[in-house]
Amino acid sequence: MKNLFAWLALGTLLAGCAQELDEAEPAPSAEPQRAFEWKLVTAWPKNLPALGTAPERLAQSVQAMSGGRFTIKVYAAGELVPAFEVFDAVSQGTAEMGHSAAYYWRGKMPMAAMFATVPFGMNAQETNGWLHYGGGLELWRELYARFGVVPFAAGNSGTQMAGWFNKEINSVEDIQGLKMRIPGFGGEIFQRAGGVAVSLPGSEMFTSLQTGVIDATEWVGPYNDLAFGLQDIAKLYYYPGWHEPSATLEAIVNAEALAALPADLRAMLETACRASNQDMLDEFTARNAAALRTLIEQGVQVRQLPSDVLRRFSELTMDVLREAAGEDDLNRRILDSYQTFLAEVRGYHAISEQAYVNARAAVDG
Ligand code: CA
Repeated sequence: MKNLFAWLALGTLLAGCAQELDEAEPAPSAEPQRAFEWKLVTAWPKNLPALGTAPERLAQSVQAMSGGRFTIKVYAAGELVPAFEVFDAVSQGTAEMGHSAAYYWRGKMPMAAMFATVPFGMNAQETNGWLHYGGGLELWRELYARFGVVPFAAGNSGTQMAGWFNKEINSVEDIQGLKMRIPGFGGEIFQRAGGVAVSLPGSEMFTSLQTGVIDATEWVGPYNDLAFGLQDIAKLYYYPGWHEPSATLEAIVNAEALAALPADLRAMLETACRASNQDMLDEFTARNAAALRTLIEQGVQVRQLPSDVLRRFSELTMDVLREAAGEDDLNRRILDSYQTFLAEVRGYHAISEQAYVNARAAVDG
């Protein structure tokens, strides 16, 4: 509408001044070339591979695209605000932008975790399809709107590892009383299966495991976990990451700050987030395999979680999701949208992605 009025006004102006155009002063540009300097707070330690470097790259990309008109200064967890206060800082405008994961905000919004990861849910490829072409992003924005925060998908880990343990997990019995750092719905499911779920930012994970505050922890996968040095304090590395079949990292933006951006800078920001979302997945895909080899060389033993343990976690999943949604209309629409998309995408992936991976393994054997 605003643009339409601007064009109508311009049309009237041009018609009136047609004869005088030769002598007229140059038309003022549509937007003054104002510079924008933003702060971006993250939930990650400084320069942590992929998670920490992604927002740095995003900022560099925006600065380059805008020819320096739009600069974003990135702060590691604890530099400006602690890891778990990133959302509030962006909501209140202390920082214009943040980089974190939606499951950290479950205390405020029980269904926020749906936009990070869902146990036994979608992988990265499927999640990106749901977010960008299946209505997921719109629901995510609706959920954050009452806090004045606009989310963008800005990174994906791919399928994670189940985590680091110091004792073998051979049955559901071995989970009983086990204290594990595990966030999101996965933590709730772990708790209901008899474990004790602990929520800790990455920066406190190593010391907590070393001092016995926790017995086990998950983080991401080989590339990221190697950087934390988790192999120095735990030797059993379990798969698969049932609790995080992929994890979306979020770029969150203060709604007023976003609205104040001229259209060209907003487009650059959106493009940089979208690129960052794919770039992180590419980086993990390329680096995880080499990192796994290094971990094994350092004495790490790779183990598969027993199927009865996975089955128990799976049995608890739908109850946890339904209870989190409760009777709230938006929460129910989020759950329904996710489940409907997953059911449909599974149908085709069974005869495409999954069938191909199975066939590749079969001909190898
Ligand atoms: Ca994780």
